[in-house]
Amino acid sequence: MTIKHLNETIINQIAAGEVIERPASVIKELVENAIDAGADRIEIVTAGGGKTLLRVTDNGSGIPQAELSLAISRHCTSKLQDDVHDIRALGFRGEALPSIGSVARLSLKSRVKTADSGFEVGVEGGNLSPTRPAALNVGTIAEVRDLFFATPARLKFMKTDRAEATAITEVIKRIAIAFPHIRFSLAGTDRTTLELPATGTGSQAMLERISQILGKEFAENALEIDAERDGVRLSGFIGIPSFNRGNAQHQFAYVNGRPVRDKQIFGALRGAFMDVIARDRHPVAVLFLNLDPALVDVNVHPAKADVRFRDPGLVRGLIVGSIKQVLAASGIRASTNAATSMMEAFRAQGLQPSSHMPPQQASSYRPQFASRDWQTHQPRQEWSPATAHPAHRPLDLDESQSAFGSMPTGLNEAGQSVFADISIPTADARAGMAEPETEIMAMPLGAARAQVHANYIVAQTEDSLVIVDQHAAHERLVYEALKTALHSKPMAAQMLLIPEIVDLPEEDADRLTAHSETLARFGLGVESFGPGAVAVRETPAMLGEMNVPQLIRDLADEIAEHDTANGLQEMLDHVAATMACHGSVRSGRRLKQQEMDALLRQMEATPGSGTCNHGRPTYIELKLSDIERLFGRR
Ligand code: ADP
Ligand code: MG
Repeated sequence: MTIKHLNETIINQIAAGEVIERPASVIKELVENAIDAGADRIEIVTAGGGKTLLRVTDNGSGIPQAELSLAISRHCTSKLQDDVHDIRALGFRGEALPSIGSVARLSLKSRVKTADSGFEVGVEGGNLSPTRPAALNVGTIAEVRDLFFATPARLKFMKTDRAEATAITEVIKRIAIAFPHIRFSLAGTDRTTLELPATGTGSQAMLERISQILGKEFAENALEIDAERDGVRLSGFIGIPSFNRGNAQHQFAYVNGRPVRDKQIFGALRGAFMDVIARDRHPVAVLFLNLDPALVDVNVHPAKADVRFRDPGLVRGLIVGSIKQVLAASGIRASTNAATSMMEAFRAQGLQPSSHMPPQQASSYRPQFASRDWQTHQPRQEWSPATAHPAHRPLDLDESQSAFGSMPTGLNEAGQSVFADISIPTADARAGMAEPETEIMAMPLGAARAQVHANYIVAQTEDSLVIVDQHAAHERLVYEALKTALHSKPMAAQMLLIPEIVDLPEEDADRLTAHSETLARFGLGVESFGPGAVAVRETPAMLGEMNVPQLIRDLADEIAEHDTANGLQEMLDHVAATMACHGSVRSGRRLKQQEMDALLRQMEATPGSGTCNHGRPTYIELKLSDIERLFGRR
């Protein structure tokens, strides 16, 4: 075959192969054009999942008559002057409209402010029609019909109308988050209408827009991020750790306003949440990076979803550092989700007969709590004024149970110094202080009243009831204490009488011995014991007695997973988390009054203690007002 120059339509269709994958990618290009044109109202209409019709109407600057036919020609753009490294608009390649025109029927109508009427051009499968007058308001209407009619092979790859319509909605939402001053509406025969009224500018407006898209619970569980380092600014919102999700759908990242799916950014986000969230859970976050366009390359791929930073380390450090700082500063705060779903669970059990119930059923209806016992039980005989006001007396304590002091926790003698570092009064210290009741009730987690089911501490504050999961809370405290201790000095080790030999797969044994120095910092003495085995001679004093083989195997897994990935610090955190899990007060342990109070005070003093190491809440708080509402008192 001889070498020939490809014709224009083929060139455009090849380009379309990269930019225009499905209806949602057309919408992305058209909406970005509307935003670049300075519109503050953008209306999108679709039919047949966008395969038969896509229409984007904007009130932006419009295109002058003389330039209309240029707009649909290849490599024609108004957005790029001479420097491809200085990109300030969303578009710049000048290939979206000609690409769309080469595979579909495109009509572009536009009117500028200074003209009394508008004009229209069309292109169908690459064939241009001459410019003619058209009636419209100032702005632009881009209409695409019969997508891929000119390239039927592409059409075969389309999913169902519904799947394509969903993808379009996702694209709009993703873009809309970054432009809260723009009103978006999305309508059409194949969807329910989505309306996103403009919320304005500034961070509050941003949070409102995010809540329009992610739901209003996000606003209640969001922490604001705003940090800057060496000319790179990071802003946005993250959900608190216990407000996590099962997939990464609710993570949004923008570089200079452009939605990106950049692995480095999402990887940094994961790193920042690593020790507050379970490995299979995902934080919710909306992050905006703004930096000098010269410091980031957005021209990595035609779809412009990938970026390359001049200094990736700086960006990662900024994301990880500022998120961790905000999480730490937020102190204890459990997701409102937990309390809300508890309230709903109560309601669902039907404390009031449903109005929809047939009368007969309604009359025999009993709240689930009102079981036989409830009906027949007399007030307890031993009731007396003294027990009626157990001002500070736990209800479910067995005095013979071991004291906190002898537990394998951060509170035994070896551990006390650790907690002293973060200046928390220990159980005994608190007992000596004998704070007045009112003062304790004024603390965020209040005064412990009882332990139920040997794992839940019930406490009372001035205006609420607090329920603490003692295992989750204690695990978190031990973890934080381990990390703190790690930064100050090597941890105290406890010699085992007889070294424990643990058999492992050979790679695991090698990995553990390779990291024996790191483990020694925690007070864990591990050495090689022939192929496929390690000998453990010392364990961290702080953790007390534990199941050594189990700990060793878990550690081997952690190291395997995080070894090469992100450096020593993250691995140390993982090792600390694994150890904390092994060294925590298990549920089932009865706690004394002072122990419970001490635990609450430690939680208050420990950053991040509102969630356990797996991102679950460590406590929930029910406001008295909500409880009263449950009982119909309000
Ligand atoms: P790019 O956006 O990369 O410049 P496009 O092919 O998407 O390339 O658009 C070509 C040009 O058409 C743009 O540079 C812009 O000048 C003009 N244009 C396209 N859509 C609009 C619009 N909605 N409003 C105003 N101008 C537009
Ligand atoms: Mg464009």
